[in-house]
Amino acid sequence: MVPFGTNRLFRLQFGGMRRLGLAIAGVALLTAGCGGNTTPEGQPESTEPGGVALVGGQLIDGTGGAPVADSVVIVRDGRIESAGPRETTPIPDGVETVDLAGKTLMPGLVNLHVHYREGGEEIQRQFDAQLHYGVTTARSIGSDTPERVAFLLESAGRTNAPRTFTAGLGFSRPGGFNAAGRNAPETQEEARQLVRDQLALGVHFIKMWVNEVAEPDRKITPEIRSAIIDEAIANGAIPVAHIDEEADGRQLIGAGLTDFLHSTVLTFGPGSGAPMDDPDPSAEFIQMCLESGAYFTPTLSIIQGNWHFAENPGLLDDPDLQAAFGTYNPDALAGWQDEERRASVVSADNFEDRKAAFRQAQDFVRTMHEAGVKVAMGNDAGTPNVPFGWGMHHEMELYVEAGLSPMEAIIAATNLGASQMPPVGEADFGTLEAGKVADLIVLNANPLADITNTLDIDRVMRLGEWVDRSALTAN
Ligand SMILES: [Zn+2]
Repeated sequence: MVPFGTNRLFRLQFGGMRRLGLAIAGVALLTAGCGGNTTPEGQPESTEPGGVALVGGQLIDGTGGAPVADSVVIVRDGRIESAGPRETTPIPDGVETVDLAGKTLMPGLVNLHVHYREGGEEIQRQFDAQLHYGVTTARSIGSDTPERVAFLLESAGRTNAPRTFTAGLGFSRPGGFNAAGRNAPETQEEARQLVRDQLALGVHFIKMWVNEVAEPDRKITPEIRSAIIDEAIANGAIPVAHIDEEADGRQLIGAGLTDFLHSTVLTFGPGSGAPMDDPDPSAEFIQMCLESGAYFTPTLSIIQGNWHFAENPGLLDDPDLQAAFGTYNPDALAGWQDEERRASVVSADNFEDRKAAFRQAQDFVRTMHEAGVKVAMGNDAGTPNVPFGWGMHHEMELYVEAGLSPMEAIIAATNLGASQMPPVGEADFGTLEAGKVADLIVLNANPLADITNTLDIDRVMRLGEWVDRSALTAN
């Protein structure tokens, strides 16, 4: 495992909780000092103290095993006590039984790429949107001030918030992409000190943007990248890089980084939005990824979001999607509701080129997945056109369109991401198996028949308690 433990909060949250097996006690400790609200008004009744038996649904457990048509899942004390076929999974005396005939259970979604916006009140609404749509874990990756880091660490064990991981404030080069208000070291020594400053806050990841965008020659240098990676790993944190070129991917893997955001298809900056002549990852790079265990979180939504609602304005009639936009960017919603704006997007000269470039990004997902490289899921939720919650379902749809099966897309959106979170390989969430945390989604329709059925949600469970899904639209 990756050694953690330089931070007291982190130990409480991820070490102590697991060692002691006192998930709920740990939660109370963490929320005590921040006005955390474990039983907000309007939250439906908790599951019975004696536990709950979810009976008769199709079980997709996220391990990749065959779905179980007629299942029983027993939830007690926030965790899954047992899960399997009805014949072999007895229902203990005294548990409340919930009939899920005709429904499907799947793990809560793990979004590896989000950017929360504003302060605690606004973020709680973004949490509400995530939980409404069954996103029960999120990694906030590069935009979090020290205050927000503290808030996310304190929220991570609440039943009305997803489990959050954070990278604090990311790294760029002075004058480079996203450098403003973030870390932009001039020297290796400064880079190492700034990494230590982030880690002292209790962050789990160290994020860097390795691209040029509008400023040529403003890409973070290989020497600084290496110093950041080295310092992060030496202190038990996981370095993560935003890239869009294979050459950078190679250099970073050589320096010890294995966690990549976006892809090697040019997504940002000059030249992006036009199809590349040679978009396919090379055999050599695929081999490097396989040998190093590197994995990708390609964020298809942030590319396609530039026009998707212009082409499909009917989606915007959904009040839940409107509310999800409203939690962070009502202006973006208003923009897409403007017919003239939509017309200008779809009639732009480069529209077909943009779509062709997007298909190259989808091809990257399929190619890497088929080669055996880990392709997890995250969508850049919180950027203007990627709504919290809803966006993860759309990202799954885009993976299926890219060529993954619905089952493979679900695994990418759950288990695969969970398995990469610290402590790596020891996740107690992301699958529906005995001993795991009870974070799950109940669907009214079968997602294996049509991946868009993941949006037909009956209810969501977080830490063994039913989520108040009305919280999203109550505001
Ligand atoms: Zn991002």
